[in-house]
Amino acid sequence: MSEMSNVRVAVRVRPMNQREKEKHPVGVISMSGNKTILQSNATVSPGKVQKGPKEFAFDHCFWSADDSDPDTYAGQEEVFKTLGEGTIENIYQGYNVCIFAYGQTGSGKTYSMMGTDDEPGLIPRFCRALLNRKSEGTVRVELSYMEIYNEKVRDLLKLKKSKKELSVREHNILGPYVEGLSQHAVSTWEDIKLLLLAGNTCRTTAATKMNEESSRSHAIFTLTITQMFHNQASGTSKELHSKFNLVDLAGSERASKTGAQGKQLVESGNINKSLTSLGRIISSLAECKGRRLSYVSYRDSVLTWLLKNSLGGNSKTVMLATISPAEDNYGETHSTLVYAERARKIVNQATVNED
Ligand code: ADP
Repeated sequence: MSEMSNVRVAVRVRPMNQREKEKHPVGVISMSGNKTILQSNATVSPGKVQKGPKEFAFDHCFWSADDSDPDTYAGQEEVFKTLGEGTIENIYQGYNVCIFAYGQTGSGKTYSMMGTDDEPGLIPRFCRALLNRKSEGTVRVELSYMEIYNEKVRDLLKLKKSKKELSVREHNILGPYVEGLSQHAVSTWEDIKLLLLAGNTCRTTAATKMNEESSRSHAIFTLTITQMFHNQASGTSKELHSKFNLVDLAGSERASKTGAQGKQLVESGNINKSLTSLGRIISSLAECKGRRLSYVSYRDSVLTWLLKNSLGGNSKTVMLATISPAEDNYGETHSTLVYAERARKIVNQATVNED
Protein backbone atom coordinates (compact mmCIF):
# COMPACT_ATOMS: atom_id res chain seq x y z
CA MET A 1 0.00 0.00 0.00
CA SER A 2 1.34 3.43 -0.75
CA GLU A 3 1.88 5.91 2.09
CA MET A 4 -1.06 8.01 1.00
CA SER A 5 -3.66 5.43 0.25
CA ASN A 6 -4.62 4.00 3.57
CA VAL A 7 -8.09 3.27 2.26
CA ARG A 8 -8.33 1.07 -0.80
CA VAL A 9 -11.64 0.38 -2.44
CA ALA A 10 -12.35 -2.61 -4.62
CA VAL A 11 -15.48 -3.68 -6.48
CA ARG A 12 -16.44 -7.23 -7.33
CA VAL A 13 -19.28 -8.20 -9.63
CA ARG A 14 -20.79 -11.65 -9.08
CA PRO A 15 -22.18 -14.02 -11.75
CA MET A 16 -25.86 -13.77 -12.66
CA ASN A 17 -28.08 -16.30 -11.02
CA GLN A 18 -30.45 -18.50 -13.03
CA ARG A 19 -33.45 -16.24 -12.53
CA GLU A 20 -31.53 -13.17 -13.68
CA LYS A 21 -30.15 -14.97 -16.75
CA GLU A 22 -33.63 -15.98 -17.81
CA LYS A 23 -34.98 -12.47 -17.45
CA HIS A 24 -32.24 -10.30 -19.03
CA PRO A 25 -29.20 -12.35 -20.04
CA VAL A 26 -27.16 -9.21 -20.79
CA GLY A 27 -25.91 -7.49 -17.66
CA VAL A 28 -25.44 -3.78 -16.99
CA ILE A 29 -21.84 -3.95 -15.71
CA SER A 30 -18.56 -3.99 -17.57
CA MET A 31 -15.02 -3.40 -16.32
CA SER A 32 -11.91 -2.01 -17.91
CA GLY A 33 -8.70 -1.65 -15.90
CA ASN A 34 -9.59 0.16 -12.69
CA LYS A 35 -12.94 1.38 -14.06
CA THR A 36 -16.36 -0.12 -13.53
CA ILE A 37 -18.92 0.92 -16.11
CA LEU A 38 -22.62 0.89 -15.38
CA GLN A 39 -24.61 0.79 -18.60
CA SER A 40 -27.63 2.89 -19.31
CA ASN A 41 -30.75 1.81 -17.47
CA ALA A 42 -32.95 2.57 -20.48
CA THR A 43 -34.53 -0.87 -20.50
CA VAL A 44 -35.12 -0.86 -16.79
CA SER A 45 -37.08 2.34 -16.83
CA PRO A 46 -38.92 2.49 -20.14
CA GLY A 47 -40.22 5.93 -20.95
CA LYS A 48 -37.53 7.65 -18.88
CA VAL A 49 -34.84 9.80 -20.42
CA GLN A 50 -32.04 7.54 -21.58
CA LYS A 51 -28.97 7.94 -19.38
CA GLY A 52 -25.56 7.18 -20.83
CA PRO A 53 -23.10 4.76 -19.25
CA LYS A 54 -21.52 5.90 -15.99
CA GLU A 55 -17.90 5.27 -15.14
CA PHE A 56 -16.56 4.79 -11.62
CA ALA A 57 -12.87 4.53 -10.75
CA PHE A 58 -11.59 2.21 -8.01
CA ASP A 59 -8.30 0.80 -6.82
CA HIS A 60 -9.26 -2.67 -8.03
CA CYS A 61 -12.11 -4.07 -10.10
CA PHE A 62 -12.77 -7.79 -9.96
CA TRP A 63 -14.68 -9.28 -12.84
CA SER A 64 -16.35 -12.34 -11.33
CA ALA A 65 -19.46 -12.12 -13.49
CA ASP A 66 -18.75 -15.19 -15.59
CA ASP A 67 -17.52 -18.13 -13.56
CA SER A 68 -17.68 -20.43 -16.60
CA ASP A 69 -14.54 -18.80 -18.07
CA PRO A 70 -11.52 -19.33 -15.80
CA ASP A 71 -9.39 -17.00 -17.96
CA THR A 72 -11.40 -13.91 -17.22
CA TYR A 73 -13.07 -14.83 -13.91
CA ALA A 74 -11.45 -13.23 -10.84
CA GLY A 75 -11.52 -16.10 -8.35
CA GLN A 76 -11.06 -16.13 -4.59
CA GLU A 77 -7.28 -16.55 -4.81
CA GLU A 78 -6.88 -13.54 -7.09
CA VAL A 79 -9.06 -11.34 -4.88
CA PHE A 80 -7.07 -12.35 -1.82
CA LYS A 81 -3.68 -11.86 -3.52
CA THR A 82 -4.62 -8.39 -4.69
CA LEU A 83 -6.26 -7.17 -1.49
CA GLY A 84 -3.91 -9.01 0.83
CA GLU A 85 -0.75 -7.53 -0.66
CA GLY A 86 1.20 -5.89 2.14
CA THR A 87 -1.63 -6.34 4.64
CA ILE A 88 -0.10 -9.07 6.79
CA GLU A 89 3.17 -7.09 6.86
CA ASN A 90 1.23 -4.00 7.96
CA ILE A 91 -0.35 -5.91 10.85
CA TYR A 92 3.02 -7.15 12.08
CA GLN A 93 4.38 -3.59 11.79
CA GLY A 94 1.69 -2.56 14.30
CA TYR A 95 -0.98 -1.04 12.05
CA ASN A 96 -4.65 -1.77 12.49
CA VAL A 97 -6.20 -3.31 9.42
CA CYS A 98 -9.88 -3.35 8.58
CA ILE A 99 -11.61 -5.06 5.71
CA PHE A 100 -15.26 -4.44 5.21
CA ALA A 101 -17.72 -5.81 2.73
CA TYR A 102 -20.47 -3.49 1.53
CA GLY A 103 -23.30 -4.24 -0.86
CA GLN A 104 -26.93 -5.20 -1.16
CA THR A 105 -28.09 -8.57 0.12
CA GLY A 106 -27.32 -11.31 -2.41
CA SER A 107 -24.44 -9.40 -4.06
CA GLY A 108 -21.66 -11.68 -2.79
CA LYS A 109 -20.48 -10.31 0.58
CA THR A 110 -20.52 -13.66 2.35
CA TYR A 111 -19.07 -15.47 -0.66
CA SER A 112 -16.17 -13.01 -0.80
CA MET A 113 -15.56 -12.87 2.95
CA MET A 114 -16.18 -16.47 4.04
CA GLY A 115 -16.43 -18.39 0.75
CA THR A 116 -17.12 -22.10 0.69
CA ASP A 117 -15.12 -25.17 1.77
CA ASP A 118 -13.89 -25.58 -1.81
CA GLU A 119 -13.44 -21.89 -2.54
CA PRO A 120 -12.44 -20.24 0.74
CA GLY A 121 -12.86 -16.48 0.92
CA LEU A 122 -10.87 -13.64 2.46
CA ILE A 123 -11.37 -14.52 6.14
CA PRO A 124 -9.86 -18.03 6.00
CA ARG A 125 -7.08 -16.93 3.64
CA PHE A 126 -6.11 -13.91 5.74
CA CYS A 127 -6.23 -15.88 8.98
CA ARG A 128 -3.97 -18.62 7.63
CA ALA A 129 -1.48 -16.10 6.23
CA LEU A 130 -1.49 -14.15 9.50
CA LEU A 131 -0.87 -17.18 11.67
CA ASN A 132 1.85 -18.53 9.36
CA ARG A 133 3.83 -15.29 9.42
CA LYS A 134 6.95 -15.46 11.61
CA SER A 135 7.68 -12.65 14.06
CA GLU A 136 10.86 -11.83 15.95
CA GLY A 137 8.81 -11.39 19.07
CA THR A 138 6.46 -13.65 21.00
CA VAL A 139 3.04 -13.43 19.40
CA ARG A 140 -0.36 -13.71 21.07
CA VAL A 141 -3.48 -13.75 18.89
CA GLU A 142 -6.95 -13.33 20.38
CA LEU A 143 -10.27 -13.41 18.63
CA SER A 144 -13.59 -11.75 19.33
CA TYR A 145 -16.79 -11.89 17.33
CA MET A 146 -19.71 -9.52 17.81
CA GLU A 147 -22.89 -8.39 16.16
CA ILE A 148 -24.37 -4.92 16.17
CA TYR A 149 -28.09 -4.72 15.83
CA ASN A 150 -30.17 -1.66 16.57
CA GLU A 151 -27.22 0.03 18.29
CA LYS A 152 -26.76 -2.89 20.67
CA VAL A 153 -23.64 -5.00 20.77
CA ARG A 154 -24.02 -8.74 21.20
CA ASP A 155 -21.13 -11.08 21.90
CA LEU A 156 -21.52 -13.99 19.50
CA LEU A 157 -19.04 -16.08 21.50
CA LYS A 158 -20.24 -15.62 25.05
CA LEU A 159 -20.34 -19.06 26.60
CA LYS A 160 -22.83 -18.05 29.26
CA LYS A 161 -25.71 -16.15 27.73
CA SER A 162 -26.25 -12.84 29.40
CA LYS A 163 -28.96 -10.27 28.79
CA LYS A 164 -26.59 -7.49 29.80
CA GLU A 165 -25.98 -5.01 27.04
CA LEU A 166 -22.30 -4.47 26.23
CA SER A 167 -21.02 -0.91 26.13
CA VAL A 168 -18.40 0.78 24.00
CA ARG A 169 -15.55 2.59 25.77
CA GLU A 170 -12.55 4.44 24.43
CA HIS A 171 -8.91 3.83 25.32
CA ASN A 172 -6.64 6.82 24.76
CA ILE A 173 -4.08 4.85 22.76
CA LEU A 174 -5.88 1.81 21.44
CA GLY A 175 -9.13 3.59 20.64
CA PRO A 176 -12.72 2.37 21.04
CA TYR A 177 -13.42 -1.14 22.33
CA VAL A 178 -16.34 -3.13 23.69
CA GLU A 179 -16.21 -3.59 27.43
CA GLY A 180 -16.64 -7.20 28.51
CA LEU A 181 -16.41 -8.68 25.02
CA SER A 182 -15.03 -12.21 25.29
CA GLN A 183 -11.54 -12.77 23.88
CA HIS A 184 -10.41 -16.22 22.77
CA ALA A 185 -6.77 -17.22 22.31
CA VAL A 186 -6.17 -18.88 18.93
CA SER A 187 -3.14 -20.37 17.25
CA THR A 188 -4.43 -22.25 14.20
CA TRP A 189 -7.03 -21.68 11.49
CA GLU A 190 -8.93 -24.68 12.92
CA ASP A 191 -9.29 -22.85 16.28
CA ILE A 192 -10.63 -19.80 14.44
CA LYS A 193 -12.99 -21.83 12.26
CA LEU A 194 -14.61 -23.50 15.28
CA LEU A 195 -15.21 -20.12 16.92
CA LEU A 196 -16.55 -18.62 13.69
CA LEU A 197 -18.95 -21.52 13.25
CA ALA A 198 -20.11 -21.17 16.85
CA GLY A 199 -20.64 -17.44 16.35
CA ASN A 200 -22.47 -17.95 13.07
CA THR A 201 -24.79 -20.47 14.70
CA CYS A 202 -25.63 -17.80 17.22
CA ARG A 203 -26.44 -15.38 14.37
CA THR A 204 -28.48 -17.98 12.50
CA THR A 205 -30.61 -18.77 15.53
CA ALA A 206 -31.46 -15.11 15.74
CA ALA A 207 -32.08 -15.00 11.98
CA THR A 208 -34.76 -17.67 12.07
CA LYS A 209 -36.52 -16.04 15.01
CA MET A 210 -36.24 -12.45 13.84
CA ASN A 211 -35.33 -12.47 10.21
CA GLU A 212 -35.78 -8.77 9.75
CA GLU A 213 -33.45 -7.91 12.60
CA SER A 214 -30.59 -10.17 11.66
CA SER A 215 -30.53 -9.01 8.04
CA ARG A 216 -29.97 -5.59 9.51
CA SER A 217 -27.10 -6.55 11.75
CA HIS A 218 -23.39 -6.02 11.19
CA ALA A 219 -20.87 -8.65 12.24
CA ILE A 220 -17.39 -7.63 13.36
CA PHE A 221 -14.80 -10.33 13.64
CA THR A 222 -11.57 -9.07 15.27
CA LEU A 223 -8.15 -10.60 15.71
CA THR A 224 -6.00 -8.76 18.25
CA ILE A 225 -2.31 -9.40 17.70
CA THR A 226 0.16 -8.63 20.49
CA GLN A 227 3.86 -8.98 19.82
CA MET A 228 6.27 -8.89 22.75
CA PHE A 229 9.90 -8.05 22.05
CA HIS A 230 12.47 -8.52 24.76
CA ASN A 231 15.85 -6.85 24.48
CA GLN A 232 18.33 -9.08 26.33
CA ALA A 233 21.12 -6.50 26.33
CA SER A 234 19.14 -3.67 27.91
CA GLY A 235 16.71 -5.91 29.80
CA THR A 236 13.78 -3.90 28.42
CA SER A 237 10.72 -5.12 26.61
CA LYS A 238 8.28 -3.60 24.19
CA GLU A 239 4.77 -4.55 23.12
CA LEU A 240 3.27 -3.92 19.72
CA HIS A 241 -0.50 -4.19 19.34
CA SER A 242 -2.57 -4.39 16.22
CA LYS A 243 -6.15 -5.16 15.40
CA PHE A 244 -7.43 -6.90 12.34
CA ASN A 245 -11.15 -6.24 11.83
CA LEU A 246 -13.21 -8.09 9.26
CA VAL A 247 -16.62 -6.50 8.99
CA ASP A 248 -19.64 -7.97 7.28
CA LEU A 249 -22.01 -5.03 6.97
CA ALA A 250 -25.78 -5.37 6.84
CA GLY A 251 -27.32 -5.31 3.37
CA SER A 252 -26.86 -1.82 1.93
CA GLU A 253 -30.37 -1.73 0.46
CA ARG A 254 -31.42 -0.73 3.97
CA ALA A 255 -29.26 2.37 3.81
CA SER A 256 -30.76 3.58 0.58
CA LYS A 257 -34.26 3.00 1.91
CA THR A 258 -33.31 5.02 4.94
CA GLY A 259 -31.93 7.80 2.80
CA ALA A 260 -35.11 7.89 0.79
CA GLN A 261 -37.41 8.20 3.74
CA GLY A 262 -35.59 10.73 5.83
CA LYS A 263 -35.26 11.59 9.46
CA GLN A 264 -38.59 10.34 10.78
CA LEU A 265 -37.39 6.79 10.62
CA VAL A 266 -34.59 7.49 13.08
CA GLU A 267 -37.21 7.87 15.79
CA SER A 268 -39.18 4.84 14.76
CA GLY A 269 -36.16 2.68 15.50
CA ASN A 270 -36.69 0.79 12.28
CA ILE A 271 -33.65 1.92 10.43
CA ASN A 272 -30.11 0.95 10.36
CA LYS A 273 -28.56 3.97 11.95
CA SER A 274 -25.06 2.60 11.59
CA LEU A 275 -24.99 2.46 7.78
CA THR A 276 -26.44 5.94 7.54
CA SER A 277 -23.75 7.30 9.89
CA LEU A 278 -21.06 5.38 8.06
CA GLY A 279 -22.19 6.99 4.80
CA ARG A 280 -22.17 10.45 6.41
CA ILE A 281 -18.69 9.97 7.88
CA ILE A 282 -17.37 8.61 4.60
CA SER A 283 -18.71 11.70 2.84
CA SER A 284 -17.22 14.17 5.31
CA LEU A 285 -13.84 12.42 5.30
CA ALA A 286 -13.92 12.30 1.52
CA GLU A 287 -14.69 16.00 1.31
CA CYS A 288 -11.81 16.96 3.63
CA LYS A 289 -9.36 15.31 1.20
CA GLY A 290 -6.79 14.30 3.80
CA ARG A 291 -6.86 17.48 5.91
CA ARG A 292 -7.48 16.76 9.56
CA LEU A 293 -11.10 17.46 10.44
CA SER A 294 -11.64 19.14 13.78
CA TYR A 295 -14.76 17.12 14.44
CA VAL A 296 -16.09 13.91 12.96
CA SER A 297 -19.14 12.46 14.66
CA TYR A 298 -17.92 8.88 15.01
CA ARG A 299 -20.01 8.41 18.13
CA ASP A 300 -23.23 8.83 16.18
CA SER A 301 -23.48 5.08 15.88
CA VAL A 302 -21.90 2.07 17.54
CA LEU A 303 -20.52 0.81 14.24
CA THR A 304 -18.76 4.05 13.32
CA TRP A 305 -17.46 4.51 16.85
CA LEU A 306 -15.94 1.02 16.80
CA LEU A 307 -14.54 1.62 13.31
CA LYS A 308 -13.18 5.05 14.23
CA ASN A 309 -9.54 4.02 13.98
CA SER A 310 -10.23 2.15 10.78
CA LEU A 311 -11.69 5.10 8.95
CA GLY A 312 -9.99 8.22 10.15
CA GLY A 313 -7.13 6.93 12.23
CA ASN A 314 -4.24 4.54 12.37
CA SER A 315 -5.50 1.92 10.03
CA LYS A 316 -5.10 0.42 6.63
CA THR A 317 -8.59 -0.13 5.34
CA VAL A 318 -9.95 -2.14 2.45
CA MET A 319 -13.55 -1.77 1.41
CA LEU A 320 -14.87 -4.44 -0.89
CA ALA A 321 -18.09 -3.35 -2.56
CA THR A 322 -20.01 -6.24 -4.05
CA ILE A 323 -22.50 -5.77 -6.87
CA SER A 324 -24.85 -7.74 -9.06
CA PRO A 325 -24.55 -7.50 -12.86
CA ALA A 326 -28.32 -7.73 -13.40
CA GLU A 327 -30.58 -4.97 -14.69
CA ASP A 328 -33.06 -5.73 -11.93
CA ASN A 329 -30.59 -4.41 -9.37
CA TYR A 330 -29.64 -1.26 -11.30
CA GLY A 331 -30.68 1.16 -8.54
CA GLU A 332 -28.92 -0.67 -5.70
CA THR A 333 -25.82 -1.23 -7.84
CA HIS A 334 -25.70 2.45 -8.71
CA SER A 335 -25.93 3.52 -5.07
CA THR A 336 -23.26 0.99 -4.02
CA LEU A 337 -20.89 2.33 -6.68
CA VAL A 338 -21.51 5.95 -5.62
CA TYR A 339 -20.95 5.06 -1.94
CA ALA A 340 -17.76 3.13 -2.75
CA GLU A 341 -16.33 5.82 -4.99
CA ARG A 342 -16.81 8.36 -2.21
CA ALA A 343 -15.01 6.07 0.24
CA ARG A 344 -12.04 5.96 -2.11
CA LYS A 345 -11.43 9.65 -1.59
CA ILE A 346 -10.65 9.21 2.10
CA VAL A 347 -6.97 9.76 2.83
CA ASN A 348 -6.34 8.97 6.47
CA GLN A 349 -3.16 9.22 8.47
CA ALA A 350 -1.81 5.89 9.65
CA THR A 351 0.32 5.58 12.76
CA VAL A 352 1.64 2.57 14.64
CA ASN A 353 0.31 1.58 18.10
CA GLU A 354 3.17 1.10 20.54
CA ASP A 355 3.25 0.81 24.29
P1 ADP B 1 -24.64 -11.64 0.40
O1 ADP B 1 -23.74 -12.15 1.48
O2 ADP B 1 -24.20 -10.32 -0.12
O3 ADP B 1 -26.08 -11.63 0.79
P2 ADP B 1 -23.90 -14.09 -1.00
O4 ADP B 1 -22.45 -14.07 -0.73
O5 ADP B 1 -24.73 -15.03 -0.18
O6 ADP B 1 -24.53 -12.63 -0.88
O7 ADP B 1 -24.07 -14.37 -2.56
C1 ADP B 1 -25.31 -14.67 -3.19
C2 ADP B 1 -25.12 -15.88 -4.14
O8 ADP B 1 -24.21 -15.55 -5.20
C3 ADP B 1 -24.54 -17.09 -3.44
O9 ADP B 1 -25.17 -18.24 -3.99
C4 ADP B 1 -23.07 -17.07 -3.83
O10 ADP B 1 -22.50 -18.36 -3.84
C5 ADP B 1 -23.11 -16.46 -5.23
N1 ADP B 1 -21.90 -15.67 -5.49
C6 ADP B 1 -21.64 -14.46 -4.98
N2 ADP B 1 -20.46 -13.98 -5.42
C7 ADP B 1 -19.96 -14.91 -6.23
C8 ADP B 1 -18.76 -15.01 -7.01
N3 ADP B 1 -17.84 -14.04 -7.01
N4 ADP B 1 -18.56 -16.13 -7.75
C9 ADP B 1 -19.48 -17.14 -7.75
N5 ADP B 1 -20.63 -17.10 -7.04
C10 ADP B 1 -20.88 -16.01 -6.29
